[in-house]
Amino acid sequence: MILKKVISPKMKSIALVAHDNMKSELLGWCKKYQDKLANHKLYATGTTGILLETNTQLLIEKLISGPLGGDQQIGSLITEQKIDVLIFFWDPLEAQPHDPDVKALLRLAAVWNIPVACNHSTADFIINSPLFNSEYEKTVPDYQAYLDTRTKAQS
Ligand code: PGA
Repeated sequence: MILKKVISPKMKSIALVAHDNMKSELLGWCKKYQDKLANHKLYATGTTGILLETNTQLLIEKLISGPLGGDQQIGSLITEQKIDVLIFFWDPLEAQPHDPDVKALLRLAAVWNIPVACNHSTADFIINSPLFNSEYEKTVPDYQAYLDTRTKAQS
C-alpha cells in the first residue's frame, strides 16, 4: 500500500462508543476529562451519545444506535478521514448482535491509522498525550495511488 502524509488537526474529531456494560465506565471517563474533550468535535453512537449529553455539558453529534448501524456510520466517517481518534469501550465479556460491525469498525480504524482506545487505560494515555492537543503528522493510504495501481493492473 502506498501511503501519504496528512495532518491530524489540533482540534480533533473524536468518536465515542461504548457497549451497554461499558457505558458507565465511558461516562465516568468523559466526566473526568470533560474540560479537555470540550475543545474537540465529538461524535457518538445513538445511546452512548444521549447518555453522555444528558450527564455532561458536552455537545455530541449523535449517530444511529450501534446495533442499528451506528458503528458502520463511524467507520464510514473514518474512511472519509473525518475522525481523528476513536474511543471504543467494547465489551470483551459479552457477545454482541452487531459483532461484524464492531470488527469492521476496528478494521477501518487500523486501515486509516486512527488512534483507538478499547479500554480505560489506553484512553487515559491518549487524552494525556501532548499530541492530543496539537497537530500530528501521520500516514494514511494514498487512495489515488491505490486506484491508479488497480486500474493499470486491470487494463
Ligand atoms: P449505542 O451503540 O451507543 O447506541 O448503544 C453502541 C454500540 O453498541 O456499538
